[in-house]
Amino acid sequence: MATMVETPSTGQAPKPAAQKKKLVRRIDRDYSQQLRHLFQGVFLVLNLYLGMVFYFWVRQFEGPAHRIANRPPGVEGWLPIAGMMNFKYWVLTGNIPPVHPAAMFLLVTFVTIAFLFRKAFCSWLCPVGTLSEMLAALGRKLFRKNLVITKWLDIPLRGLKYLLLGFFVWAVSSMSAHALGAFMHSPYGVITDVKMLNFFRHLNQTGFIVIGILVLGSVLVQNFWCRYLCPYGALLGFASLLSPLRIRRTPSACIDCGKCNKACPANLPVDKLVTIKSMTRCWCRLPTPFRIPCPVMRR
Ligand code: SF4
Repeated sequence: MATMVETPSTGQAPKPAAQKKKLVRRIDRDYSQQLRHLFQGVFLVLNLYLGMVFYFWVRQFEGPAHRIANRPPGVEGWLPIAGMMNFKYWVLTGNIPPVHPAAMFLLVTFVTIAFLFRKAFCSWLCPVGTLSEMLAALGRKLFRKNLVITKWLDIPLRGLKYLLLGFFVWAVSSMSAHALGAFMHSPYGVITDVKMLNFFRHLNQTGFIVIGILVLGSVLVQNFWCRYLCPYGALLGFASLLSPLRIRRTPSACIDCGKCNKACPANLPVDKLVTIKSMTRCWCRLPTPFRIPCPVMRR
């Protein structure tokens, strides 16, 4: 392990030996952020590719267009509510749902990732999270920093995503297996994915305004959508709470430099906590070595 031990020279009378903390500086290079950005880039490109193939697949039913043989099942990753409905249908009947089955498998995969690696899906894979980070970086370029919303407003706003999640969970949980099957096979249920695509293809004025507000909010406030509004992130947050993994700070080794606080995109008071349990989107939600830039952290 490449570490270096330094003893600071302050010119003051030395403290009693018991209170002294050794300054241990990490000098081995940390590539976790580069690796994270690589994963984010690959998944962003993959999602753009899936969206493009799906677009051409839809176009071939609208008139003469280039023939695309298969519809890419991966687009169902964008249908988390269908995934929840299918999951409940599968639990109640034991049958794999025939409509949008990939939505269920992808949802279960992402929840399992949240259980195993906490918010790693948000930080490493989610294309919306990647775009959100890009917009926040643009905001820092334009205005030198992102806004930090004051606590009295931040806390109630963070509750919005749980309200949205609660609404969807309530709606799905109140449906019987028969109702779920009927919805799945209804014309709307069968083409939910096409409806979603068409929402973006034919954005109306309200859609433009809503997306404009979200983009502007993400430029000004880091993780605006993820922090306040994303019900998917809220669901993964609950799964991550059950995870046996935790980020733990070792107070005896901490030199109170506050670098973890500055690096934390979720604005958590990391240097005041011993165990970090927050459900907020965070890019250090993985076990060693994928962690925050702590200068005394040993690997
Ligand atoms: S909070 Fe939602 S949008 Fe943000 S990264 Fe997580 S799943 Fe994606």
